Amino acid sequence: MRVYADNAATTYMSDAAKAKLIECLDNYNGNPNSLHSDGQRTQEVLDEARQTVADCINAAKANEIYFTSGGSEADNQALISAARGLAPKGKKHLITTNIEHHAILHTMAKLEKEGFEVTYLAPEANGIVDVKKVEDAIREDTALVSIMFANNEMGAIQPIAEIGALCKSKGVLFHTDAVQAAAHLPIDVQAMNIDMLSMSGHKFHGPKGIGVLYARNGIRLINVIEGGAQERGKRAGTVNVPAIASMAVALKEGCDNMEENMKKVSALRDRLIEGLKDIPYSQLNGDPVKRLPGNVNYSFEGVEGESLLLHLDMYGIECSSGSACTSESLDPSHVLTGMGVPVEAAHGSLRFSLDTDNTEEEVDYIIEKVHSVVERYRKMSPYWEDLESGKREHCISK
Ligand SMILES: *Cc1c(COP(=O)(O)O)cnc(C)c1O
Repeated sequence: MRVYADNAATTYMSDAAKAKLIECLDNYNGNPNSLHSDGQRTQEVLDEARQTVADCINAAKANEIYFTSGGSEADNQALISAARGLAPKGKKHLITTNIEHHAILHTMAKLEKEGFEVTYLAPEANGIVDVKKVEDAIREDTALVSIMFANNEMGAIQPIAEIGALCKSKGVLFHTDAVQAAAHLPIDVQAMNIDMLSMSGHKFHGPKGIGVLYARNGIRLINVIEGGAQERGKRAGTVNVPAIASMAVALKEGCDNMEENMKKVSALRDRLIEGLKDIPYSQLNGDPVKRLPGNVNYSFEGVEGESLLLHLDMYGIECSSGSACTSESLDPSHVLTGMGVPVEAAHGSLRFSLDTDNTEEEVDYIIEKVHSVVERYRKMSPYWEDLESGKREHCISK
């Protein structure tokens, strides 16, 4: 059996998104900036996609939607725009969390080198940020708060509406990386007082290499790429209309079927969590309830997540060891350690990210194989032996 359980890393394109891509390649291949009919037909497709995306997140106007090359670019542009835009007013302080995606953390580090001061808030043990701590961190010179909508590794959903209301009352800009949330969780940028929001097509069954930055009118974006006047002059380069139209179709599909999908996928998630519970010295990371419908992040003491992952792959199960980005380093996930998971437990973590195409049979297969693989690796692990003999202390309870 082959089970794809790594949808937080990327999803497969939906049939409708694929069909739209091909339709555009065949029929709307003009440059929307061209004045001739081919260009104008393509421009109409682009306008329609922009409106669809705006509607899906309840943006007031379609022109608040900027298409980017993906979530990373949207994150970069949002943070750099807010920081450089407000610096002349003496606002050189930024607030974020220590569990953000690297697209946020590395951009923050770059801004620190430019002289900005950044506060990194740690979430509570359940992975959720305390709004009171955000409030306490806000200062006179705070330009921006950037807190992700839902975490890509352990799935915790942040109190976005509360943080949005807080930021509004304090006159501070609020950006959220909603790459994991878009098309999976309800988003209303107006009701939630979100000033800027990032999305990525490939996390919701659209194409890769295309994303969205929502920026409320009145926010001045910097241009990340100089050149032509595309995207209201903020991102030069011929617009990738087929990818954009395809992404819009995928987003709308997700939003139209959201309630049903959330119900189905969270039932699969809870089945998997329930099935792993009886493995001794293991724990679920992230809030058990306020979490992404498809996310299961589990730590197993005494084993390496990477070993488990590779062994599960031989059984046809594709998942991730905490974070896809850690695959080239041996450091444990910054998200798990950032929320206080002991390093030893973080090393033995696996992330399964389920989606609508997964089935109960697949989940049961995962449960069976994880049991046997964990048991097998523990038998071979000197570290586990030390735990068993009492030479070392367990960091997860039985
Ligand atoms: C995947 C992801 C990104 C990056 O998006 P790309 O489109 O791959 O650049 C950013 N933030 C989060 C939370 C993600 O999961």
